[in-house]
Amino acid sequence: MDIPWKRVRRWECLECGKCCKAFLVPVRIYERPVLERRRPGSVTIAISREGRRGLYLSKKESGECIFLVKVFGRYLCSIQDIKPVACRLYPFRVKKYGNEEAYLRVDEEDVYVYLDSRCPGVKEGKADLNMYNMAVEAARLKINSDRLLERLRVSQFPH
Ligand code: SF4
Ligand code: SF4
Repeated sequence: MDIPWKRVRRWECLECGKCCKAFLVPVRIYERPVLERRRPGSVTIAISREGRRGLYLSKKESGECIFLVKVFGRYLCSIQDIKPVACRLYPFRVKKYGNEEAYLRVDEEDVYVYLDSRCPGVKEGKADLNMYNMAVEAARLKINSDRLLERLRVSQFPH
């Protein structure tokens, strides 16, 4: 379930690894070369549960992300410096439509920011300034990466 950011008191990653095991992680076209350089075969073409065919991070036989490592009982990402936007955003979700409690105006765009309640680090309650800053940061990351993707599309297929 998606919770509007104004109804989230706190979020902190508990390094449980749940998201890195459960999800098929989408990779943006411009992210592929750097991931493939780090580990050849780390990006694959697959079809998501929703039927979306695209680029995703490869998984181990166990089903967890190929870059997930376990260190002293904690699940850590071994590519913090280059992990995909999808990973940098989670558990935040930035949408074009939503309700008032999720609304933000960031970089001249209207967006709606939610957090995924399946992440155990998400604590419901009244948002404070720290949560507001996190929501803005997530929105900015999504907006900038979407703009980059759009610029690449335009340069590849000029009118
Ligand atoms: S599910 Fe949430 S708490 Fe667990 S690793 Fe992912 S972001 Fe962190
Ligand atoms: S790249 Fe890192 S954060 Fe993303 S799913 Fe893999 S281990 Fe998790």
